[in-house]
Amino acid sequence: MQEDIYVTRPTLPELDEYIEYLKQIWDTHSLTNMGEICQKFHQKLSDYMNVEYCLPLTNGHMALELVIQAFGLSGEVITTPYTFASTTHAIVRNNLAPVFCDIRESDCTIDADKIEELITDNTCAIVPVHVYGMPCDVEKIESIAKKHNLRVIYDAAHAFGESINGKNIAAFGDASMFSFHATKCFNSIEGGCAVLHDDELLLRLYQLHNFGIMDEENVDFVGANAKMNEFQAAMGLCNLEHFEENRLKRKRLFDLYREMLSGIDGIRLLDYDEDRIKYNYSYFPIFIDDRKFTMGRNAVYEYLLTENVHARKYFYPITSKFNCYKDIKYKGDTPIAEKMSEQVLALPMYADLDIETARAICELIIKLK
Ligand SMILES: *Cc1c(COP(=O)(O)O)cnc(C)c1O
Repeated sequence: MQEDIYVTRPTLPELDEYIEYLKQIWDTHSLTNMGEICQKFHQKLSDYMNVEYCLPLTNGHMALELVIQAFGLSGEVITTPYTFASTTHAIVRNNLAPVFCDIRESDCTIDADKIEELITDNTCAIVPVHVYGMPCDVEKIESIAKKHNLRVIYDAAHAFGESINGKNIAAFGDASMFSFHATKCFNSIEGGCAVLHDDELLLRLYQLHNFGIMDEENVDFVGANAKMNEFQAAMGLCNLEHFEENRLKRKRLFDLYREMLSGIDGIRLLDYDEDRIKYNYSYFPIFIDDRKFTMGRNAVYEYLLTENVHARKYFYPITSKFNCYKDIKYKGDTPIAEKMSEQVLALPMYADLDIETARAICELIIKLK
């Protein structure tokens, strides 16, 4: 490639669209603290996801951390290590103990058949991840949670705009968190939102995201500051207008990648079910098995770099291998997560990626056969 191609590139609206909101900000001098633009974004988001209780926050991580705090949990949380640092950190920063469950090879989400064996008297919640926007087995997770009286809080950072059998993915579990970080398929510069299904919990989250302040003289909770500002909300409103158009652009790339990279010995793709699931097509991971392909994942990664293609090892290493977690005692053996993390390479995927560039990336990989 002549130019560097990164795994993603933030989506921006036309400058004029954003400037309209900037004018409003300059007129009102309202920069943050649940301003008018943030309220409008809040409304549009709830309408879009068809949920009653949601809250925009300054980033996805704080949304997850504070949602977990809002539930007032203690004890062990069953989750997966095949994810971004945020998921495990949000659990541990709430003084909860992560218990790692393995994932399924077909889609890298939590293997629901292995959850029950990890449940103890101390288990309080399950935090599954819709990783790459692959929906977890929401039905099985729900029935396990019901049986054992556990909360289910989805890390849906990758899954904005998706639905399962026509039902928005935000509807599942007790809560879900979405990320609107610049690198995600829908951004508000930094940002995120939490979806809950209970008005008391929403109120608690609302208080927690603004220092636990109740009114001018009363502070009832040890909250944080996770408010979304007006500039973020404005970007979110602009980008939301273009979300579907950008989703379809990514689908074209997805279809091409899938067609060109299927059926290669030693390269595996995830199992997609487009009849049941509306995907947002925000990632395209491939899994390289060095016993069957001519080289391993790391060699393919290095080779692509020499061609200016910056693919990424999402997610390697798994979070349970992080230095900060090497001394903590956690339970759960995750051989599949480990194997997938050693094989994965996420290819460039974003709305403005030129289809011919995607084709050229596939050809580089095919040439290695
Ligand atoms: C991006 C991401 C987050 C955190 O979201 P931010 O908006 O970056 O704080 C959490 N979980 C996963 C799986 C993510 O990819």
